[in-house]
Amino acid sequence: MADRYFANDMPEFVEEASADEAKVGSFSKLLSLPYPTLSGMLRSSGLDLKQTVVMQTWGVSGKRVEDYTMYAGALGTAWLAFKAYQVTNNHTDLKLCSDIVKACDIASRDSGYVSFICGRAGVCALGAVVAKHAGDEMLLGHYLSKFKEIKLSSNLPNELLYGRAGYLWACSFLNKNVGNGTISTTRIRSVVDEIIKDGRQLAKKGRSSLMYEWHGKKYWGAAHGLAGIMYVLMTVQLKREEVEDVKGTLRYMIKNRFPSGNFLSSEGSESDRLVHWCHGAPGVALTLVRAAEVFGDEEFVQAAIDAGEVVWRRGLLKRVGLCHGISGNTYVFLSLYRLTGKVEYLYRAKAFACFLYDKGLKLISEGRMHGGDRPYSLFEGVGGMAHLFLDMTEPSEARFPGYEL
Ligand SMILES: [Zn+2]
Repeated sequence: MADRYFANDMPEFVEEASADEAKVGSFSKLLSLPYPTLSGMLRSSGLDLKQTVVMQTWGVSGKRVEDYTMYAGALGTAWLAFKAYQVTNNHTDLKLCSDIVKACDIASRDSGYVSFICGRAGVCALGAVVAKHAGDEMLLGHYLSKFKEIKLSSNLPNELLYGRAGYLWACSFLNKNVGNGTISTTRIRSVVDEIIKDGRQLAKKGRSSLMYEWHGKKYWGAAHGLAGIMYVLMTVQLKREEVEDVKGTLRYMIKNRFPSGNFLSSEGSESDRLVHWCHGAPGVALTLVRAAEVFGDEEFVQAAIDAGEVVWRRGLLKRVGLCHGISGNTYVFLSLYRLTGKVEYLYRAKAFACFLYDKGLKLISEGRMHGGDRPYSLFEGVGGMAHLFLDMTEPSEARFPGYEL
């Protein structure tokens, strides 16, 4: 039963002590540290891990890029370096990020993938944002013009990792971080129209307002399904009927979730196993928080809180990464903390992060935790853990990479 995750026997809540009362040594002492002390430790560990990730994914390969993607490849390292720059304001990290993106730009030139996390849009969009931070107008122009050359084929899927939603996320990321109107409303509207048209088409015979398919399955989760597509739709301007479609789809998911509170990985699934960002409650929780922020409906706040309970009980996974590991699941509590302002959620985020900090690498070396198929990557490996630790320094500003905007 509990083979996918560790039983969560951490205390429901631990008050923070004053600096001299708390002593490092045991796990509960770690939880009782004053926040500035703990976040300082996590920050320093995050920066060390970042160095290891850079060495393993960029240094060792002689700065050659094979896998360029943010998910498991070099762009993930670039994103992590950018995060480090945001935390430390160290321009060496900004320069490093820019160099890696340049190598990804060359490696992805003939790529047919169009999304942010697994495709060319991620390279061009991150490149543009980094160029803006560096004050390099020419480079900014280069990446924006390359972004605008990306073509979406008519038979593209709609999901986040490879489909239209993943391209649309990149458009919203650019408009937020380079400036409103960087990607025109007309361009965005044409993509939204396609997503909505396909969703209504497939939903016709079902009970959900929108439905999508990827490789023959009607997924619900963030990576390939409804949660991911609904999230991205909520980052753009929607027509009134489209808002109702998104709300209706989320209500359908809430109404038909498992009795445990977890969410189905795909339509009709009876197997209540996965509590991952990619499949299950964590990815849906982040989408529900977005719905609560955008629409303000209490039903979405409550559903997000319910999903968070599932993550607390069953989310201490035996992997470290963002996609299906503890780091990714921790973002659910950071998101709920931002939504509710309740210190209980910050505590839960701390508890998961401290578990990783205290035991993560040791459990991997003992073979009791899986280090990830690509152990230094952002989405599957310790890159995600480094990112989480750096985000813990400013918890109300934390965002799940490539997902929360
Ligand atoms: Zn996953």
